[in-house]
Amino acid sequence: MELLRPSSVGELDGGVFVHGGTEVVPLLNDGLLSAETLVDVRGVVPRGVQDGVIGAGTTLAELEVEPSIPQALREATALAASPQLRAMGTLGGNLLQATRCWYWRLKFPCYLHGGDMCHAKAGQHREHAIFGNERCASAHPSDLAAALLALGAEVRTTDRTFPLAELYRLPTDDDRDVTALQPGELILELEVPRPEASVYLKAMERRKWSFAIVGVAAARFADGVRVALAGVAPTPWALPHPSADALEQATPLPGTAYKVDIARALITRAVAAVGG
Ligand SMILES: Cc1cc2nc3c(=O)[nH]c(=O)nc-3n(C[C@H](O)[C@H](O)[C@H](O)COP(=O)(O)OP(=O)(O)OC[C@H]3O[C@@H](n4cnc5c(N)ncnc54)[C@H](O)[C@@H]3O)c2cc1C
Ligand code: SF4
Repeated sequence: MELLRPSSVGELDGGVFVHGGTEVVPLLNDGLLSAETLVDVRGVVPRGVQDGVIGAGTTLAELEVEPSIPQALREATALAASPQLRAMGTLGGNLLQATRCWYWRLKFPCYLHGGDMCHAKAGQHREHAIFGNERCASAHPSDLAAALLALGAEVRTTDRTFPLAELYRLPTDDDRDVTALQPGELILELEVPRPEASVYLKAMERRKWSFAIVGVAAARFADGVRVALAGVAPTPWALPHPSADALEQATPLPGTAYKVDIARALITRAVAAVGG
């Protein structure tokens, strides 16, 4: 395998991007990802925070102690993964991490792998989705993505700028991808509006180093409160209105019905915490 270390956007020419490697390396080891060329993007992707713009190469460890970012993002970051993973893992890599669904990780020929059925729906699915689960019932693992969605962040890539919500998509029969990035498109920065108040609450199996059963981000702006959830759909999930009543639209599986109760409690608490 070839490893390239470009130092500018102009030198990019295909290959699989790797930044902290906390996701890419396990996927390569497990044969879930193959690459003839790995492109170490540490010399290309900005790192650090300035005037509400966060370099996608900023590590989670740097973000969790960054006083200038909204509280919801700082809290989501501090509750993600472990100190070792936060020291290596970056914001860009976190937003693009693959599903933790064990059927997918164990290479079952499921819908997301291009097959025609969701093995989790037919089998074990306690960690899975309560929204958007018609085809694939995976639960998006990124705490930071939910926080950034509630905050209304914008993504700047090598090609364009767009709302974070448009980074994600539900898989379809024609396209099983859950992100809308084009091949070779690199995330450079995120612009994060400053809310009047924000919070991130996370229910986990353990108090530390655990993916979200349900994560709830709430952010209050002059025009109202926005709420977005982690761990409940194949993508980060924005609620249409900032109230637990939005859970009436949920489509839980037999094994995930308990998540609706947890989400109801956390949404109510999060909206109250931001004064909504
Ligand atoms: C055991 C474990 C527990 C975890 N727990 C949590 C948790 O509780 N909450 C949570 O939110 N996350 C959790 N994570 C995820 C962790 O935060 C991510 O693995 C990490 O942030 C990824 O960053 P990285 O720089 O290492 O990404 P990499 O491994 O380098 O890359 C990940 C993916 O992003 C792509 N990529 C990287 N940077 C860019 C870029 N700038 N533009 C375009 N593509 C890019 C890569 O090609 C790859 O597909 C956990 C991970 C592990 C292994
Ligand atoms: S939830 Fe998605 S990733 Fe998991 S088995 Fe079903 S289709 Fe595959």
